[in-house]
Amino acid sequence: MTSAAPLIDQFNRRISYLRLSVTDRCDLRCTYCMPEAQVFLPRKDVLSLEELHKLALGFIARGVSKIRLTGGEPLVRRDMIELVRALGRKLGDGLDELTLTTNGTQLARFAEDLFAAGVRRINVSLDTLDRDQFARLARRDSLPQVLEGIAAARAAGLKVKLNTVALKGTNEAGIPDLMGWAHAKGMELTLIEVMPLGEVEEDRFDQYLPLSTVRADLEQRFTLTPSSHRSGGPARYVDVAETANGKGGRLGFITPLTNNFCDGCNRVRVTATGQLYACLGGREQVDLRAALRSEEPDAALQAALDEAMRIKPLRHHFAIDRSGAAPALARHMSMTGG
Ligand code: SAM
Ligand code: SF4
Repeated sequence: MTSAAPLIDQFNRRISYLRLSVTDRCDLRCTYCMPEAQVFLPRKDVLSLEELHKLALGFIARGVSKIRLTGGEPLVRRDMIELVRALGRKLGDGLDELTLTTNGTQLARFAEDLFAAGVRRINVSLDTLDRDQFARLARRDSLPQVLEGIAAARAAGLKVKLNTVALKGTNEAGIPDLMGWAHAKGMELTLIEVMPLGEVEEDRFDQYLPLSTVRADLEQRFTLTPSSHRSGGPARYVDVAETANGKGGRLGFITPLTNNFCDGCNRVRVTATGQLYACLGGREQVDLRAALRSEEPDAALQAALDEAMRIKPLRHHFAIDRSGAAPALARHMSMTGG
């Protein structure tokens, strides 16, 4: 395989999408994501701005046309906007889309810079509109800041999609209102099942709310029509007839535990330390930092990407165990990037 060959795995899936974590740090502590006393990585272990840039260019050279920056919270990294600007210059020159997933707390500050750098769409994670519940869920009283951030992003011209992790007995009851609020503002909302990633202080089985249950509840109150819309990811959509002032809003479901979403997988994930995970739910990994810090970084990086294509598994192996046993994977989502 030449170094400019597209990234195609052993199951003939073309990899065109990179989710790149730029930090494991975060200004929130969502209970399903990390413990209060999360220990963050030493800075020397985290890729520098130059390394992140080089790595992203290496992927673009192999046909990756969409990059999502994530974390931890990407916007808490100080030089993040410089990376966005540098990658923004590749838009139209190999890169079709540059986007990010954020908790929204820093958006009011960065929304205009993101738009100016070429970002057009972002995903914001929002689990509840209830300030007290938010403070309990995220262990920080930051809902007003997040709502201000969402408003600023929209005002700057960014298209905002919301992601909501469905949690049993927590935000469950508020999901219809959250959906109605999002749709009234023209924002799509996607619900996500909690995934067993990393030790947290709560029992996963207590948190796990199958989206089949949420959907059945919503169907009591709304008319949900399956939609053929696809975003290129694992979400499946319905149109909700009654929302968005009767014009209908779009609701997505990501169900890693109740459905298999691996067949059309087009993505790989890279952590802030440059570990490529071939699958969010697998252990297969390639050390891109070692490649980047080697004598011949360009050749080593391309060889490492070839290796990743050889080891990408067919499907993930998540499961939530009623016994409350150890998480299926020891690493947190904040490490792999959502
Ligand atoms: N901090 C940013 C944010 O919250 O959007 C980006 C990183 S965060 C790890 C990305 C996404 O992963 C968020 O939507 C978050 O809700 C989700 N997430 C974190 N831990 C999860 C888990 N155990 N199961 C399912 N989703 C999870
Ligand atoms: Fe931070 Fe995002 Fe994890 Fe919440 S989900 S703790 S905002 S990384």
